[in-house]
Amino acid sequence: MTFDITVTTSDSPRSEAEVAEILANPGFGTHFTDHMLTVEWTPELGWHDARITAYGPISLDPATAVLHYAQETFEGMKAYRHADGSVWTFRPEENAARMARSSHRLALPVLEPEDFVRCVDALVEVDQRWVPENADAGAGEKSLYLRPFMFASESFLGVRPSQHVTFMVIASPAGAYFKGGVKPLSLWLTEDYTRAGRGGMGAAKTGGNYASSLVAQQEATAHDCDQVVFLDVAEGRYVEELGGMNMYFVYRDGHVVTPETGTILEGITRSAIIELAQKKGHRVEERKIAIDEWREGVASGEITEIFACGTAAVVTPVGTLRWDGGEVSGEATEEAGPLTMEIRQDLVDLQFGRADDAFGWMHRV
Ligand code: PMP
Repeated sequence: MTFDITVTTSDSPRSEAEVAEILANPGFGTHFTDHMLTVEWTPELGWHDARITAYGPISLDPATAVLHYAQETFEGMKAYRHADGSVWTFRPEENAARMARSSHRLALPVLEPEDFVRCVDALVEVDQRWVPENADAGAGEKSLYLRPFMFASESFLGVRPSQHVTFMVIASPAGAYFKGGVKPLSLWLTEDYTRAGRGGMGAAKTGGNYASSLVAQQEATAHDCDQVVFLDVAEGRYVEELGGMNMYFVYRDGHVVTPETGTILEGITRSAIIELAQKKGHRVEERKIAIDEWREGVASGEITEIFACGTAAVVTPVGTLRWDGGEVSGEATEEAGPLTMEIRQDLVDLQFGRADDAFGWMHRV
């Protein structure tokens, strides 16, 4: 069963001058567009009352389940403006499928992937003047960040799956991740905190995973590092991922390794890179990689490049790895490696419409 989306446009949209000023320097996650999309779910009616309305605060009963038990999922994706003015998203059906998997894990109802894509498209269409232009290549890589999310909206303190659920999409213009050129990230290895164990929620995009990462991220910042690296729960030995990005290692013979899935978030950038690297003739292994393999590989020169990937930064080189009592750096970590930059360029060119979409990954809004 599907639903129609009603549109009631804002009677106080920002002026063209205000939008232009925001888009000149959008930052990340602080400015929001004029509208938002909302859909409700109950067991009796299924998904219903889909509407686009003026962006604004929502009112919640203090007993709303999500505020107590964190039953929620979300997605992160972007809309990109191409040189001809058209607006595109990157593999949105993958975000839809991941939200469906996350919803299943959180005992939330599934929003059909085609409805998910329709909702995202509808909001982007209404707020399309908020998708930044990238006319000047130097100031390029601006986009409209899209945040679909779903939460337990029943007012009830019993611990059971919510019988009222709300799905929303909001949008926020985003600046280029790297302003003064691509620069390697420094990483902090947390040995006190883990992110997700077997049977846990590691593969779901749910707020609790991010809540649990914050104290480790604080530790990283205190040690002058940009991001935190998490190891597996069972043995505290294998590399999982960063707080908000997946990881890749490039070896001297050209093969590439990325941690296997199960307890990590299955990044849409990560899976695109598997296909891209294979197409370039690199063997890609999805397997466990021990933290000692990382340390020793960098020190010996066997690992020649390390990078992290995700929607926010696309691909970012990884520099020094620090932990309590040591650090390792080497040729691999001094500056961005050639494969890292090639893959980054390929993806960015595809997203911004400067390259042929050989994989059929772009979706026109
Ligand atoms: N891991 C985590 C924990 C993340 O939050 C993200 C960002 N969504 C990623 C990996 C990368 O995923 P994607 O490529 O889909 O943005």
